[in-house]
Order: sequence, then C-alpha cells, then structure tokens
Amino acid sequence: MGANGSAVPRHYFEEPAETMDPALLDAIQWEAFVRQVERASTSRFYRDRFARAGFDVSHLRTWDDIGRIPFTSKTDLCDDIQENPPYGTRLVVASEEIVDIVETSGTSGIGREVHVLNAEDRHRAYRIEAFGFVWAGVRHGSVVALTLPVAMTAAGNWWIMTLDRLNANCLRLGQMDVEAKLDYLVRYQPHALIGTPAYVSRLERAALDRGLDLAAELPALQSILVSGEAKSAHWAQERNIVWGAKVYEQWGCCAGAVTWSCEGGMVDSAGSLRPMHSLPHLTMLEVIDPATGEHVRDGEYGQIVITPLGMEAAPLVRFATGDRARYLEARHCTCGRPFPGIEASSVSRFDDMVKVKGVNVWPTVVAAVVELHPEILEHRVTVYADASAREQIKLEAVVRDNLGEGFRSEVLLRELKASTGLTFELIVHGAADGVAFQDVMQATSGKVRRWRDLRADDVPAE
Ligand SMILES: [Zn+2]
Repeated sequence: MGANGSAVPRHYFEEPAETMDPALLDAIQWEAFVRQVERASTSRFYRDRFARAGFDVSHLRTWDDIGRIPFTSKTDLCDDIQENPPYGTRLVVASEEIVDIVETSGTSGIGREVHVLNAEDRHRAYRIEAFGFVWAGVRHGSVVALTLPVAMTAAGNWWIMTLDRLNANCLRLGQMDVEAKLDYLVRYQPHALIGTPAYVSRLERAALDRGLDLAAELPALQSILVSGEAKSAHWAQERNIVWGAKVYEQWGCCAGAVTWSCEGGMVDSAGSLRPMHSLPHLTMLEVIDPATGEHVRDGEYGQIVITPLGMEAAPLVRFATGDRARYLEARHCTCGRPFPGIEASSVSRFDDMVKVKGVNVWPTVVAAVVELHPEILEHRVTVYADASAREQIKLEAVVRDNLGEGFRSEVLLRELKASTGLTFELIVHGAADGVAFQDVMQATSGKVRRWRDLRADDVPAE
C-alpha cells in the first residue's frame, strides 16, 4: 500500500465486502451471477434469446463458461420496449410490484431504455449509490448540493433517494438558474456538490463574474462529485484548487451499475488518475475487447458490460453499455479494497469514436489536450471533406478576450498532433466575437456535443 493511500482515512459503507478476501468475494459474485442468469431465463426476453444462442443455465459451471451467454445491446432493449410497451418482456414481476421507473436520456438516437425496479431493486439502487457518497465523506447531517435537474433518468432520482436514506440534506438546486444556485451555495455552505463537469465550470465562470473566490466562500466544501462526462487529471487538479475541494468521479448507467472514486478522489496528490471501483457483490462488471469478445487484460481498453446482481423486477444479463473504458485490477488502488474497476477519466462512448484519415480519434483525448489551456473557454471540432475530398479536422476554440496575442496556438497544435497523430486546423475566436462565440457555445450547451462530422454531406459512402 502506497504512502499516499494509507494517509487517507477509510469510510466504509459495507465493511465486510470492502475488506473481504478476494477469493471469497469472487465465490459470492459467482453464486449471485448464476442466480441472476436463472432468474433472467424465466423472462420471455431471455428465454427466447438464450434459446436462439443455444445457451442453457446448466452450461454455467465456471467463469470460463460465461462467454456462451450472448450480450444484450441497447438496441435489443429499445426494440423490446418499442414492441412491448411500456416495460418490455424482461419483466418477471406483476406490474403492481413496480415502485420506480427510470429512462435513459435517449441521446443515442435509437430510443430510450426503460428500467423498472421493485422495492428490493430500489434498495439495491440505494446501496450502489451510497458507496460513492460515503467514500466521498457524506454522512448523517451532511449538506449536499445537487445541481442537476431531476427528471426520468436514474442519476438525480437515485441520488436524492440515497441521500435521504443516508440522512444527508440534499439541496435540490437543479431547476434554478446559475445565479440562484450560487446564492444557495453561499447561504447553506454544502459539504459536497454534485454536478456535471460542464456545470461545475459554469458555476466557476459565474462566480468569477461576481468576483467570488469559491475556495474562500465555501470553506465547508470538501467533495465535488462529477458524472456524465470524462475530464482529464489536469481538470480535476484545477478544480481541487479553485474550489478547495477534492473531485470524485462516478460512472453510472440507468441499467443499474456504477463505479465510484474511493476516498482518494479522481487524482492523487501527484496528479495521476486513480481507479473508480466496481462493486463486485452487487454488479458483475466486465470490460470486453470488441474485436475478440474476451475480457481485456489489466490496463487495456474495452467495452463496459454489466450484469446487475440481485435485480428482481426486470433482470438484465451481460448488458453491453456502449461505453469504453480502461480496465484496472483491484491492486492498482491504494485503498486495499478487493474491488477492481476502471480508470477515472477513461470512459467515452463507443459511438463517439471518430475515424479520421484512418485514425481512431476519441473526443475525450482532444478535450484533455484542450483542458491544458485554461484560456480556452470552449471548443468545437468539425470533421469534413475539403474541395479535393480530403478529410480534414478543424478545432475551433473560444479564448478569453484579454489574451491579445498571448494564445499559444503552435503549442496546442503540437500537443494535438502528439496525442492523436493528426494535424488539426485551428480557428481561434475571441469571446467578444459574438456570432462565432454563440455558435460554439450553443453547440456545447446542455448535453455535451462538441463534435460534428460533416463528411457524409460531402463524400460519397465508400
Ligand atoms: Zn480505492
């Protein structure tokens, strides 16, 4: 155990699991996994799928056998919901048992997933969420500012429910404008704040406009919990300084799985990214190489595939989330928990990957480079075909106005080339350049969509 990790006190939520012998934890997970597959196979949805794949529960003898279970994709779920509204054919309880309905936000264009929970499932949802809050220092009486609006997605809904069960005070600021949110933060002095990274930056900008020093104004604030978009280690370090609080990251999905930063947060004191832990007794989390269908090795990237364990109302087995992440074995964390996971900041959508000049480019990689330049307020990337039908990639940056000629374009271009292998075209807009500014900022408001691919408009399909 490293000196850095042992210096951070542990806050256990379920200490027996968090300190369990890895072999015992593995045995418990296996038993729960088999039970989950058995339960799933009683649903019409899985009975048909398993039959088509020639799979039967009796085939499951060791972990080596799980490759025989077909993946369930987002499209599978959405098609099922569409054909069998409103809950689909995964449901194995009477509809009167349902106590919670959540939907995905539906940004992928193939519809919304619908997930329903019975009372037991809702208790399980509380447990998976509570780990992260407790690890980040939230306890009885803590004041927690929730800056996300609460709608049909699991995120806000389950966080409020969890904070309630933990007897923490939840400030529900989601529906307020940014100025009102700042007023509430100063008035009620939260210990923790939850938001998207983009919204955390927005609060900072509003505070700056008011001349507020957030670290000085919010002395009680210890933790900032971010979710919804991966940001770089550098971004997390900057936030640590600006807010005087530690950044914790969550990756989660409405299907009922999360990973969380433990006590040490998203980055360590040296600025290196830390793991986000899965909860093996509550979720079977796999990271699968899309090319082979096999689990990746330690430190490699693949698709997150989840099986929520103990899910009663509408079981889900080997759900391929479409999210890409870097898998880390438990030994990478200094906390000593037997929980493997994924690296903080490593998650991106598979369907966000863009191929330019034959090179795979990830928006998060470009964003991490841009974040090294705090003078850039926002950015947008456009991939297009030029007049000679050559693929080009253009980055538009909106920079602070008071920079004059001080913006180091060549440095940015060199860094982009080094991390992606591509030569970017760079266009710099001053914040006072009204039209361009609005254009770029518009593109990045709300759900983050910083990339445009215009090639289809110009180039015939290959
Ligand atoms: Zn840890």
